[in-house]
Formats: sequence, C-alpha cells, structure tokens
Amino acid sequence: MTAGAPSEPAPGLSLSIGPDGWLTGSAGEAMDPPPVDSTGHRTVAPGILRRPSPNHDQRPDGEDPYLLVIHNISLPPGVFTGDAIIDFFQNRLDISSHSWFENIRDMRVSAHFLIRRDGTIVQFVPTVLRAWHAGVSSFEGRERCNDFSVGIELEGTDTLAYTDAQYERLAALAAAIRARHPIRAVRGHEHIAPGRKTDPGPAFDWDRFESTTR
Ligand SMILES: [Zn+2]
Repeated sequence: MTAGAPSEPAPGLSLSIGPDGWLTGSAGEAMDPPPVDSTGHRTVAPGILRRPSPNHDQRPDGEDPYLLVIHNISLPPGVFTGDAIIDFFQNRLDISSHSWFENIRDMRVSAHFLIRRDGTIVQFVPTVLRAWHAGVSSFEGRERCNDFSVGIELEGTDTLAYTDAQYERLAALAAAIRARHPIRAVRGHEHIAPGRKTDPGPAFDWDRFESTTR
C-alpha cells in the first residue's frame, strides 16, 4: 500500500457487522474519534478500512444474503503493491498508469470486502446492499448471485498461495458475516460461474478455510 503503512491486524480484534451493513472492530478496539489516514480516509479500526464504492444498488426486496462468494483479484495480475484494486472499485483507477488496465477500462464492479496480502480488510459496500462482484452466475438453479450473496475478494492469483494473515482475517470476517446474515453456503466464483471464472482457484485451500469456520 502506498497510502500510509499497512495496518497490522490487532491481536484479538473481534469483528462485527452493524445494522447498516458496515464492519466494525469491537472489544475496545474502536477509537473515538476514528483515526484518519494520510489520504484523509477513515480507518475504522486497526486493519480495517472503509472505502465506499459507487458500484452498488439495492438488493431486490431487501433480501437477506445467504451465500458467501470467495474471489481473488490483483491489479495488475500478480502485483500486490499499490492501491489499484481500491481505485478500480471506486471508479478512479488511472488507466494510463499500466498497460494492462486497458483490459478493465469502463468496467463498473465492486465487492463487499477485499482482504489484502497483509490481512488488511477493506470494505466497499455495506452487506445489506448489492455489490457487483459475481456477474452472470447461478447457485442451486437461481441466477444473479449478486442478489443474494456477499462477495469477498482475496488479493492474489489462482495459483499463488494465499497468506496466513488472509486466512485468519477471512475466518474472522466470515464469522462476523454469519452473525449478521443467514449464510448457509460458501462458494468460489469459479463454482457459480463455471467456464467463465476461475477464482479463487487451486491456490485457495478450502479445507483450511472450512476448518476455521464453524
Ligand atoms: Zn471473481
């Protein structure tokens, strides 16, 4: 990250999602007033950033999400420095800053959360709203998974091992989401959009994830 030092996740930080669908750190970690980083953005708690994305809308009939979708992203692919993912989800990516970015020009997408390589969690969209992460997709015969899912991006690629910090933070985040919404399944993007998407890929250790989630 270029804007400020990456925040070390605080040991024992417990996560919860409020009625408004935004993640907060609790158990005494909340700070009053919230600190502001060097870019003027609000830091919710150590290791949790809030970067609202305009790429969202209402869930149909205010539906409560019941599916968790795991993705990966890195921009450009395989590069884990800088804030291109955040800029991309906020529609402010400088396309001229890397030739690969032409591939995603004019795309308007988002996810609810991003977990960076160092475990930092970035939230873009409240869980009660619809983020635009799944695209054409289907789960148990129902299409448009964005309507009824929460999307988590892991900074990475399909083939490079995710970090310990990412698994730890993913477990805590999934627990917080489960405490707020009736999640009954977790799938990869590759499972709900087979043939079109390959993330989070063979690098994602499903057994490890499942051993850390209830
Ligand atoms: Zn994906």
